[in-house]
This record gives sequence, C-alpha cells and structure tokens, in this order.
Amino acid sequence: AAKKEGRGRAKAYDPTMLELLEQRELLRRSLRMALDQQQFYVEYQPIAEGGCIVGFEALLRWRHPLLGKIPPAAFIPMAEADGMMPDIGAWVLEQACREAMKWPENYLVAVNLSAAEFLTSGLTDRISQTLDLVGLPPERLELEITESVLLERTVNNIDTLNTLNVLGIRISLDDFGTEYSSLSYLKTFPFDTIKIDKYFITDLETDLKSQAIVRCIVNLAHDLDMQVTAEGVETRGQAEWLHRVGCDRLQGYLLSRPLAVEAIDEFIKGAEASKSHARL
Ligand code: C2E
Ligand code: MG
Ligand code: MG
Ligand code: MG
Repeated sequence: AAKKEGRGRAKAYDPTMLELLEQRELLRRSLRMALDQQQFYVEYQPIAEGGCIVGFEALLRWRHPLLGKIPPAAFIPMAEADGMMPDIGAWVLEQACREAMKWPENYLVAVNLSAAEFLTSGLTDRISQTLDLVGLPPERLELEITESVLLERTVNNIDTLNTLNVLGIRISLDDFGTEYSSLSYLKTFPFDTIKIDKYFITDLETDLKSQAIVRCIVNLAHDLDMQVTAEGVETRGQAEWLHRVGCDRLQGYLLSRPLAVEAIDEFIKGAEASKSHARL
C-alpha cells in the first residue's frame, strides 16, 4: 500500500517537476554555447518623435537549434544568474553600434544594459572602446537601464552614470513605474529620458488612473529637463492621447514591431520618404 501511495504521489508532481528541471538544465547548457555558436541576433524597434524616426532600440534574440525562438524574458534572467550577461551584453553593444553606422547620421541606437553588466568594473572604458572601434559618436548611443540596476552600490552607480553622461552617451530609465520607482532616482541620477512602462499605456484610453499617472510622469520629466518615451503604444487612440499630454517619443507595435536587420533599410527609406512628403 505504501508503495502504491508513493507511486501515486510521485505521479502527482514528480514527472512535471523533473521535466521542468531538465528543460531548465537543457536551456542553461545550451545558453552557455549560444554566443560561440552564433545563435544570438538582434532585432531593432523604431522610436518616433514628432512623427519622425529618431532611432531604434536593440532587442536581443536567441534562436535555439531545436527549440526555436526563445523570448528574452525566458533566458536573460538565467544568463544574468549564471554570469553570462556581461559577455552577451558586450556582443549586443558592438552589434548594435555597427548596425547604427549604416543609418542616417542623426539616428540613435538604444541598448539595454542588465544589472550584471552595469556592475562590472571598467564598464565605461569598454563602452567607449567599442564606440571608438566602430566609429559611432557617443551622442548616438542611448543606454537603457532599469531601476533594479541602481539598487546596489549607489556611490559607484552615480560615478558610472556621470562618466557616461560626460562622455556624451545618453541614459534612459527603462520600465519606469513598475519596479521600485523611488523618485530619489530621478533626483540622484543624470537621466536624459524616462521610458514609461507599457503597463500604463495598454489601458490608457479607458483607465483614468493610468491617465493620471502618465500625465504626472510626463510633467515631472519635463520639469526635470528629461524627455519621455511611451513604450508599448499599440493604438492610434493611445498615440493621440500621448501627443495631447506632451509625451515626446513613442515606441510600440503601432509604429512597428521589432525588425530584423534585413528589414531596417526599407523601413528607414519609407520613413524618410513620408517625412519629406509631409514637408511639401
Ligand atoms: P524592454 O527594454 O522594456 O523592451 C520592450 C519590450 O516590449 C520588448 O520585448 C518589445 O518587443 C516589447 N514591445 C514593444 N512594443 C510593444 C507593443 O506595442 N506591445 C507589446 N505587447 N510589446 C511591445 P522583448 O524584445 O521581449 O524584450 C523584453 C525585455 O528583455 C526588454 O524589455 C529588456 O528588458 C530585455 N532585453 C531585451 N534585449 C536585451 C539586451 O540586449 N540586453 C538586456 N540586458 N536586456 C534585454
Ligand atoms: Mg528597453
Ligand atoms: Mg522598456
Ligand atoms: Mg518594459
């Protein structure tokens, strides 16, 4: 009876737990090889300001040989926990800067920085070396960091951000409003841009609370001499509302999904054509 019970219990949860663990272990093992085996690539999502494209955000992608496309949310935390993010991030930065060299000279490239990368020593040196190597002016690079990145080692964090700022690199505060959202960050760190998380944008047309929060963030950012980007803009109604309250930049599926490198050229041509057309 005991054996039966044991088996029954095992059946209730062990197989799925094991499967899950095995999957994670498989994923972790393949993740360690992914960079060498060139399974990573970068997609680029346009950012618009006043109806013009001002640049693209680089978004990391992983194509697993067996499992196919794996979303960043499923592997970046793992890569971060296993200490792989500094290497992967350095690769993304160089890719993105090289890609940006092919765009019009006033376009910027936004690159996400994980906590592990941000805390590595010599970060600012490595970033400026990459810019030198590729030939991209620092003013065309924008680094996106989230509030969680700033939780540790505050004095060094301020130094790092100030150094980047002095180099001319732009810094944006990503996913604003969803994490710790201590307003002291806005007072302490030299951000150029605040990105309002799509959590507040999704229901913007109907939810009065989201409206109040977005309006407040836009005004606060402007009073602090910072720009505001709304992420996850999917409808014309959201875009119009954001325009009315003075939000500077928009990003989201309404404008475009993240694009494969091969599609960027045509996207830029289209955007530039409609710009000159609009001017006539
Ligand atoms: P994020 O930096 O906040 O990027 C925005 C995410 O929202 C992207 O998801 C993008 O594809 C998605 N998105 C854009 N517009 C819309 C929209 O209109 N509707 C909806 N529903 N989603 C939209 P993605 O590519 O899955 O990336 C998720 C997160 O992974 C990023 O959030 C970022 O935190 C992280 N990530 C991506 N690439 C990198 C990287 O190279 N380095 C680091 N450290 N993190 C990265
Ligand atoms: Mg981002
Ligand atoms: Mg974001
Ligand atoms: Mg976000």
